[in-house]
Amino acid sequence: ASLDRIDAVDGAVHAFLHVDAEGALAAAADVDARRAAGENLPTLAGIPVAVKDVLTTIGQPTTCGSRMLEGWVPPYDATVVARLRAAGLPILGKTNMDEFAMGSSTEHSAYGATRNPWDTTRIPGGSGGGSAAAVAAFETPLAVGTDTGGSIRQPGAMTGTVGVKPTYGGVSRYGLVAMASSLDQAGPVTRTVLDAALLHEVIAGHDPRDSTSLKAAVPPVVEAARTGDVSGLRIGIVTELGGEGFQPEVRARFDEAVELLTGAGAEVVEVSCPSFVHGVAAYYLVMPSEVSSNLAKFDAMRYGLRVAPDGVEAPSAEQVMAASRDAGFGDEVKRRIVLGTYALSSGYYDAYYGSAQKVRTLIARDFAAAFEQVDVLVSPTAPTTAWPLGEKLDDPLAMYLADVATIPANLAGVPGLSLPVGLADGLPAGFQVLAPALADDRLYTVGAALE
Ligand code: GLN
Repeated sequence: ASLDRIDAVDGAVHAFLHVDAEGALAAAADVDARRAAGENLPTLAGIPVAVKDVLTTIGQPTTCGSRMLEGWVPPYDATVVARLRAAGLPILGKTNMDEFAMGSSTEHSAYGATRNPWDTTRIPGGSGGGSAAAVAAFETPLAVGTDTGGSIRQPGAMTGTVGVKPTYGGVSRYGLVAMASSLDQAGPVTRTVLDAALLHEVIAGHDPRDSTSLKAAVPPVVEAARTGDVSGLRIGIVTELGGEGFQPEVRARFDEAVELLTGAGAEVVEVSCPSFVHGVAAYYLVMPSEVSSNLAKFDAMRYGLRVAPDGVEAPSAEQVMAASRDAGFGDEVKRRIVLGTYALSSGYYDAYYGSAQKVRTLIARDFAAAFEQVDVLVSPTAPTTAWPLGEKLDDPLAMYLADVATIPANLAGVPGLSLPVGLADGLPAGFQVLAPALADDRLYTVGAALE
């Protein structure tokens, strides 16, 4: 059914970069056969899943939305992908994304934009717009995304889907092509909170192949999603997120959801996190710094695109590298590599990267102080609903501000969930829940209470 649906609608949505019908059907048939033989299979066995094209997959290309990796088929599976396969989930294919996960609209994909199924003249959010749109358009019930500054949660808000960024270190980054290693985290994109918890359970857990992977037990996310009991739960509304710059109807849906939580017995207070307003500025130094280092590996020698420089008879390795990076990377990627290289350069390092790291610490302290008073924090996921395609393409700063509410969680490593809370001016609005590190289950408790 998923493959038929992809055939029917993906021409208009363009959520997928690659569909592996044969592989998915073979995996489904295998599950059927094992079930018929009486094998006791994991809960999600046989349920199809789509994977953001930034996670490596044996037998399927992994492009990261970039010309640089066009046609590259990885020789290994990301741990997340290996776990999906081991749990019997057929992998439908790879979903579209902003190039190397840089963007908030999926318009920075080298393979063309994804469109929002609610209104195909609008963006689906980004960078994981492909995963979110695939779920929203009923092409797949489940998808996996990655979130460096909001790329699971913000597209969730734009498309009316549930998106979860787990605690940093909760899900292995092995095989996740790195954008900013200290911020990147993979997580579920689904239609319901319980689906997200079930998928979370499949992909989470310690992995010795990722040095930042936590050894702690996976939080009881499924139980929380099944219960959804918020009575006595202390909920803090973040003062700094949701006022100026937020679309009034988005704020109105948020306020209504908060009322539902109060009605269900939660204690709601306002909590100030004064450093959050500097989150975007700090993020746009920390992230490009890491980008400039991580993307240095695309040197045209080891993998990916190799272009001969024009008019040079016997080009040096450096000339080939320069020509290939020029041809292989899009403008947004280049912008960030330049920004990051500058921020890390001798003489500027302390003023830029060093200051940003200090702000990062202040944001983590805001979270720590807040979580002494409350169990979870809440805010609208994004300031606005989905905007028209092209609207912010020439204005990077306006695009960056779409992540004002999601970025603090990445900087502090805490988990966050976005779920739909109705329509604002006719388009989906998202509600964000943030919890302390390793208390991911609380996200699902609040999410389930609102569903
Ligand atoms: N939109 C943010 C950025 O452009 C976040 C991206 C992400 O989470 N991958 O960096």
